[in-house]
Amino acid sequence: MATEKKLEELFHHTLQDIYYAEKQILKAIPKMAAGAKSPELKKAFEHHKDQTEVHVTRLEDVFKMIGQPAKGVKCDAIEGILKEGEGALEDFGKSISGDAAIIAAAQAVEHYEITRYGTLRRWAKVLGMNDAQVLLEMTLKEEAATDEGLTSLADSYANKQAA
Ligand code: FE
Ligand code: FE
Repeated sequence: MATEKKLEELFHHTLQDIYYAEKQILKAIPKMAAGAKSPELKKAFEHHKDQTEVHVTRLEDVFKMIGQPAKGVKCDAIEGILKEGEGALEDFGKSISGDAAIIAAAQAVEHYEITRYGTLRRWAKVLGMNDAQVLLEMTLKEEAATDEGLTSLADSYANKQAA
């Protein structure tokens, strides 16, 4: 029989995964902000960069709570999403559909984060880690709000402009 992997280990692994991702996202956001044409979109990215720094700090707090060093593991999913986003920026960045392309790429990132935090906060709950659950839910809310903000920007100008 295969050795049992406990939920604690799964939680720890996924925490390392999102920690790696948040750090990559922190590097990617300024590129997206630089590529954005509208001042509103630029501002949205700058605001979310500040939030992302807090997300990293919260994850470091959760590592402390489980008595593990804050360390990331390479996450192929976020690598792929960010690579695709960079490609979109190259191909469409200077065109009239640039902001629509950047928003779409950024929303893929937020949805990735939403799935990770959504999972982790449920696992934290099952594991009886209430403080960790609260921190993870705070971040989850900010990711969801960011996603909604991007949808509003897409609806208000970017998609029409692109069409
Ligand atoms: Fe985040
Ligand atoms: Fe985010």
